[in-house]
Amino acid sequence: MKHALLAALALSLALAASASGQSTPYPVTDLRSLYEDLLGKINSFPIYDNHAHPGYSDDSDVDAMAAPPDMSSVLRLREDNPEFVAASKALFSYPYDDFEPQHSRWLADRKKAAERAGGTAYFNGILDQLGIETCLANRAFMAPYLDPRRFHWVFFVDSFFFPFDNGDLAASNPDMGVYIPLQEKMLARYKKQMNVAGLPADLAGYEDFVRRTVRENQKSGGVAMKFEAAYFRTLYFSNPPRERARAIYERYRSAGRPSADEYREFQDYIFRVLVDEAGQLGLKVHFHTAVGIGDYFSLRQGNVLNLENVLRDPRYGNVTFVLLHGGWPYEREAALLTAVKNVYLDTSLQSEMLYPSQFKEVLKQLLTLYPDKMMFGSDAFPFNDALGAEESFWVAVGTSRMSLAAALAELVSERALSTERALELARLYLHDNAAKLYSSAPAGGKGASE
Ligand SMILES: [Zn+2]
Repeated sequence: MKHALLAALALSLALAASASGQSTPYPVTDLRSLYEDLLGKINSFPIYDNHAHPGYSDDSDVDAMAAPPDMSSVLRLREDNPEFVAASKALFSYPYDDFEPQHSRWLADRKKAAERAGGTAYFNGILDQLGIETCLANRAFMAPYLDPRRFHWVFFVDSFFFPFDNGDLAASNPDMGVYIPLQEKMLARYKKQMNVAGLPADLAGYEDFVRRTVRENQKSGGVAMKFEAAYFRTLYFSNPPRERARAIYERYRSAGRPSADEYREFQDYIFRVLVDEAGQLGLKVHFHTAVGIGDYFSLRQGNVLNLENVLRDPRYGNVTFVLLHGGWPYEREAALLTAVKNVYLDTSLQSEMLYPSQFKEVLKQLLTLYPDKMMFGSDAFPFNDALGAEESFWVAVGTSRMSLAAALAELVSERALSTERALELARLYLHDNAAKLYSSAPAGGKGASE
């Protein structure tokens, strides 16, 4: 009798544990099987990649900038990471177990052949293999081998920050010596595109050039403008009066080097012009918000919190801001900034740099804050002739699906979420948040994407 009572009590406790109730700090169900079950379903969900640099390795337009020489590389992004070999095997049935030069040539030849063949089938095929439906391509210019139905352009606008003599900036450290000439080259390309010779006579003319270029880029398929400003300067943008910017422009338009303060003030003003134009056109505004490559990247200046005055400015309620790379290593700060209605983030870069056990913790935090604001991103990028954006996509996709399943399995097992709710959040993060964001009718301009 006593045993029967105890058994009934144990049964009712077990039932209480598996039904609804307050969430617990430890799993109350088998975490591993829950993970496998969720991963099986999540593997079939389509992906919308909010940030990548798709392209062949000899295509310098995959980015507006380049890696500085001899920079430190974090462990997982080193070319000897064996996961990249696994990626090549999965995608191309690569027959070797390393990237020794005599082996990796097999891969490089294969990619060269695809490039020579031309057409959009190759990169569409990569997306298909990985379950990526749509991919935002953050590139200097788009390439004919990327299908505009699958790859949507995110263009760069930082070059508008550098119209004057940039000698002091380029000499400030070895990385800037690489970055600044590329920004000058980008500005020269925009000037050519818009038939602008030299610099316009006054600030009004320069602003007109900036706004017209942005409009033209949107007409060419651009869905967002990207600031990689954190590589060059602080992400804190003051709000200088136009009169001040006009004086600086007129003083340095044809000669002379502005002081660091003068240049920054001028850039702060041009930044406001760009954001205003984005709001009018319904273009999204992307920011690099994470530690960057190179040994001179300023963590303090690149901290996402520097953007707070802009993101929380009610005047920009019509502008959608997207914090690329989710602010890492300040990912909590970035996530909390998405409380603002028009602020979103993606987890690109983190999905390649962090291992699943680490990225799982990030996603577990993000998805319990504002899950309708968090988006998948790969930051896929060609490393060299053999190891391409393709392998980079593969690592980011696999890491994200596994980390997502693991984070959600924990939340379900701790009774924070039901399985149904967990799968709903997975869909939002992998695809639906971005699909909704980029298909929403812009405030001013034409529809940005289908
Ligand atoms: Zn990127």
